[in-house]
Amino acid sequence: MKDYILALDQGTTSSRAIIFDRTGQPVGSAQKEVKLLYPKAGWVEQEPGEIWATQMGVVGEVMQRTGISPQAIETIGITNQRETTLLWDRKTGKAAANAIGWQCRRTSNLCDHLKEEGWEPYVRKTTGLIIDAYFSATKIAWLLQSDPELKRRAKQGEICFGTVDSWLIWNLTKGEKHVTDVTNASRTMLFDINRQEWDDQLLKKLDIPPEILPEVQPSCSEFAKADPDFFQGNSIPIAGVAGDQQAALFGQACYHPGMAKNTYGTGCFMLMNTGNKPVFSQKGLLTTIAWSNGRETHYALEGSIFIAGAVIQWLRDEMNLIRHASETEAMALSVRDTNGVYVVPAFTGLGAPYWDMYARGAILGITRDTKAAHIVRAALESIAYQTRAVLDLMEEEGGIALHSLRTDGGAVANNFLMQFQADLLNRRVERAAIQETTALGAAYLAGLTTGFWDHLSSIEKQWKADYVFKPAKGEEWRRDAYQGWNKAVRRTFGWEK
Ligand code: ADP
Repeated sequence: MKDYILALDQGTTSSRAIIFDRTGQPVGSAQKEVKLLYPKAGWVEQEPGEIWATQMGVVGEVMQRTGISPQAIETIGITNQRETTLLWDRKTGKAAANAIGWQCRRTSNLCDHLKEEGWEPYVRKTTGLIIDAYFSATKIAWLLQSDPELKRRAKQGEICFGTVDSWLIWNLTKGEKHVTDVTNASRTMLFDINRQEWDDQLLKKLDIPPEILPEVQPSCSEFAKADPDFFQGNSIPIAGVAGDQQAALFGQACYHPGMAKNTYGTGCFMLMNTGNKPVFSQKGLLTTIAWSNGRETHYALEGSIFIAGAVIQWLRDEMNLIRHASETEAMALSVRDTNGVYVVPAFTGLGAPYWDMYARGAILGITRDTKAAHIVRAALESIAYQTRAVLDLMEEEGGIALHSLRTDGGAVANNFLMQFQADLLNRRVERAAIQETTALGAAYLAGLTTGFWDHLSSIEKQWKADYVFKPAKGEEWRRDAYQGWNKAVRRTFGWEK
């Protein structure tokens, strides 16, 4: 009996493997760090061989640790850090260069040129993205431009491009399959999310030969069978693939328009399901494919906050106001409110909806009786205020009311923060019982394809909150608190100009 699903979660800083059972419970996991290389200021790379080796290492480890044999595994789901770009030789599988990491800024100039030439509206309506060095397109262009021989070979069809999912599947099939899924493709800045095809105009503009591109499949479909050599002679289908944030949305069972998830880590990553049609933002949110099963596609609006849990790290490491992040909850609750204090953690500028890269951080409203606890509380509240600002924008541009907010990530351990978030949004905040939402999403996608689970509705029933925070504050409080935040945030605009 095949009772388990193996999820591979290849993230920026680690490769993980988790085995889930039929009830969606994790039964075992293993994790290995992956190195990030910084060859120049602003450059980020990873070794393709290490990505693959660590990923397979943890697969072996989790099977050994749980005693679950490959025969008991129905299918494999893959989720991965998005946008990171790899090129390799189609014959030998040898990487042509190090992977260029998603954070790498080496193509900023190329992006500026594209903007100057007026490509922004076209890129937005075709790919759903803003022109930015994060996305794979300019990274591929850079690799090909910097090596004429590589470009020549790419034109001859001798080179493959892939995001991390493609790279893993290629290796898992010993070079049989060169594929990706729609969610990963939609982060390349080369994929038309309306027609769900690679876009000729962008390929031409960046001089990227279409021969290098992987075939794009629905996230919920059979991608390949892993080579039996890796699984003691068993041939396990790889039947679900999605980029990490989309996988988390799926793992959080946000299957209906208006449902959203927020991951509270160093930064925040928010995605809202907007249904079967893409909604194109005018104010800097990204539009992306949430998942597809070949018959139906769901889209999402995506927004991120640069500094979320990082403001707590700052209180700890730079301000020495706390020793552990976990102390902040009791400190925040030791005072009635912030006594009028606002912390605006615009350390590196502000993203959506403010978009001011010249903004810098501030603590406002300090008086003689301001205590450390007020500042700590205001720092936690800043995470919730920034989240509200993005969700308000999603509601406005999506024309959809936020139904509820499902949460995961390291900072959701903070009950004060979660309750404050519910009060500020006037919505239920549902903290997921299973925090491995990313890997779970990949497992769900794979299990739906093979019939391990028969329907979305059966998975939906599996989703459980570990706690639901219900809004408990009145409208007047909400208006005043948010007005105060907006006043504070405006004071930080343009500081570095
Ligand atoms: P990432 O995946 O981005 O590394 P995690 O999901 O592991 O982040 O979350 C870590 C972040 O959560 C850190 O920035 C930390 O300051 C914050 N954090 C952890 N515990 C708490 C807590 N109890 N209260 C507030 N913030 C917390």
